[in-house]
Amino acid sequence: MSEIPSMPVPVELRAPRGARVLEIVWSDGLTSTFAHRLLRGFCPCAYCQGHQGPIRWAEGAPEQDLAIDDIEEVGRYALRLGWADGHTTGIYSFRFLRELHPLAELPLDQARLRSFGR
Ligand SMILES: [Zn+2]
Repeated sequence: MSEIPSMPVPVELRAPRGARVLEIVWSDGLTSTFAHRLLRGFCPCAYCQGHQGPIRWAEGAPEQDLAIDDIEEVGRYALRLGWADGHTTGIYSFRFLRELHPLAELPLDQARLRSFGR
């Protein structure tokens, strides 16, 4: 898998303990502010999404906000998010996070209706 050279990458991550958002500052100057619930609802892992079809809001997504305990960079293309309930299989590619960016501006009840190609 190769990325387009101009693909923006995160240059700064802010996930203060107790906060309900993850902020990503991108190399092109954009800042994304993702509610934890949004990120967890669209967790792209096989457990949440199955193995085929578009990425959708996960039925089993927790009703309440969940803290992110751990963030790990995977290769040079993705972040692995570790959640307070022990769910650590979600690997969010930078490309996917950029696709999620416009949803961060929407009310959750609208955002959760969207879906994404893989
Ligand atoms: Zn998941």
